Amino acid sequence: MEQAPSTPKQKVVIIGGGFAGLNLVKKLDRSKFEIILINRHNYHSFPPLFYQIASSGLDPGSICFPLRRELFRRLDGKAMTLVMGNATSINVEKKTVKVDDRDIAYDKLVIATGTTNNFFNMPDLIEDVFTLKSAPQAIRCRNQILYNLEKAANTKDAELRRRLLSFVVIGGGPTGVEIAGALGEMKRYVVPREYPSIPQQDMRILLVEAAPSLLGTMDPRSGAEVEKYLKHLLVDVKTGVGMQSYKDGVVKLADGQSIRSDTVIWTAGVTGVKLDVVGADIHRGRGNRFVVDGCNRVVGLDDVYAIGDIALMPDVDPVFPSGHPQLAQVAIQQSKLLAKNLNKREEKIFIYNDKGTMATVGRNRAVADLGKIHLSGFPAWFIWMFIHLISILGMRNKISVLINWIWAYFSYQSSLRILIRPDKYPVKNRWREK
Ligand SMILES: Cc1cc2nc3c(=O)[nH]c(=O)nc-3n(C[C@H](O)[C@H](O)[C@H](O)COP(=O)(O)OP(=O)(O)OC[C@H]3O[C@@H](n4cnc5c(N)ncnc54)[C@H](O)[C@@H]3O)c2cc1C
Repeated sequence: MEQAPSTPKQKVVIIGGGFAGLNLVKKLDRSKFEIILINRHNYHSFPPLFYQIASSGLDPGSICFPLRRELFRRLDGKAMTLVMGNATSINVEKKTVKVDDRDIAYDKLVIATGTTNNFFNMPDLIEDVFTLKSAPQAIRCRNQILYNLEKAANTKDAELRRRLLSFVVIGGGPTGVEIAGALGEMKRYVVPREYPSIPQQDMRILLVEAAPSLLGTMDPRSGAEVEKYLKHLLVDVKTGVGMQSYKDGVVKLADGQSIRSDTVIWTAGVTGVKLDVVGADIHRGRGNRFVVDGCNRVVGLDDVYAIGDIALMPDVDPVFPSGHPQLAQVAIQQSKLLAKNLNKREEKIFIYNDKGTMATVGRNRAVADLGKIHLSGFPAWFIWMFIHLISILGMRNKISVLINWIWAYFSYQSSLRILIRPDKYPVKNRWREK
């Protein structure tokens, strides 16, 4: 008897192997779909701990995980292709994605490209400030901090030393608060011991936030508590004042103050990753995000979905009528629902199960809003550690992070303050971060 021809698998192309893209890959049914995952890097990373790379608390290998290992070991490599490359545009008439110099065809496309830095009306800042939106950016920031400490330890010029040791963090959200706190721990505990030639008071960490308080999206108590923790770590905090410009090593604030600094760390804003759409004129939402319906379909496009930070879902979720916050849990939950909808050909609407937000400032100090419960101090810090630890991909990485944290907790030391910078030569095939 002749066998009925099996229906060809639909080709699902996913752009982005972050929280949203990778979880979608794991949940899609391989007997129904052939999957192509496009990602800029050959690894998945854990952005909430980028600040610990920048402050030499963790090495990048502890919070980055090779995508091939996850995709081809656990999932047998069936009906799965990984393309390392940069997607620049999609053509919705031809149903293709442009990745570097090739076109990849899709039946269904999922955009999960996340966000990048937003410099608002100061685009030139990209050349002068340090940022924390990717592991390479965090490594660059770490190298700058270590280099400046070494230079400052060996100069007799007091003014130069103060400039080298002036760290200005712009943006008082969780990332800004966390990196400022980590720098504060360096100033309070590491500098006096490991850089004895540096007078502690010459190191200055200034956190600048334009809004009236820190952590504006959290419970109002959080901002005040975090400010107290930062002061304990010798960090200066300025709220209600924005940065006006940063030129020739001078930060100008809106209140007229000027600060000389070689190191400005920008955490003040994000915007959706640029991806051109050819063949349709669609409207982008706030923060350059793709506007989606309740099933994460991009409004105005067929067979194209957006999930995670790059998606804006207005007027669907009664608790978040103007769209969801850009958080890992939103990305994970959207990816799981989309996989279910595609696998079962259902059209369930996304409702976010808010598990809360947290931020930490050094050891034993954190704030956490978990539903109606607000925690601070040690309990919040312990929960913060536990949640982050279980969320990191890979057992080796979890163990490595835990060992580093325990070691640093009891010794106030880190063996990671090693300044390794890429060699200049050979120039041929030099890898560039896009
Ligand atoms: C420093 C920092 C701290 C954070 N802290 C927290 C926190 O404590 N708690 C929390 O819930 N959330 C936190 N977030 C937010 C959280 O990381 C995001 O909400 C989450 O990563 C969104 O997942 P995503 O998959 O949409 O995007 P991402 O995780 O950003 O993944 C996007 C992926 O797409 C790839 N990509 C982008 N553009 C292209 C392209 N053109 N071509 C190919 N590949 C591309 C990227 O390389 C990346 O792998 C933090 C973010 C940052 C940056």
